[in-house]
Amino acid sequence: MEIIKVNKLIGKGGSQMAKIFVYDPASNQMFTFVRGENDPMPYSYDRTLLVREFRGSSNASVLWTTTTAMEAWNTTRRTYGAPIPVGYAFKRIWEGGHGLQSQHYAGVSFDVGQRLSQTQRNRIYNTARSLGVWGYVHPTT
Ligand SMILES: [Zn+2]
Repeated sequence: MEIIKVNKLIGKGGSQMAKIFVYDPASNQMFTFVRGENDPMPYSYDRTLLVREFRGSSNASVLWTTTTAMEAWNTTRRTYGAPIPVGYAFKRIWEGGHGLQSQHYAGVSFDVGQRLSQTQRNRIYNTARSLGVWGYVHPTT
């Protein structure tokens, strides 16, 4: 007889759960989370970044990012002080996208502010630039 406990990636509501790997460069460790689409991303504060926002249109069942990317998000979101809509962050190479898609596949690039006014977008841009927590900040996505 063999009894196996299988961790099915199914949530209470029957919705699919995402497995999320978060790499922490400081400790060189990878942490694993299982989250629903409406749950916050691990290490993001409050509900400022939900799994479905991070995922965008990607169909991946496994997502990943880094603690430093989440900390950069938190700092930017706190400093900006208002909701920052996220079109997507994670995207697999073969799921299309644009020039910096490898950074999306690494889960460290966020396309934000698509539905905001130019003034709001400029303020996010200036906030992200001034904080110095991002490697690149592009004015348009
Ligand atoms: Zn992008």
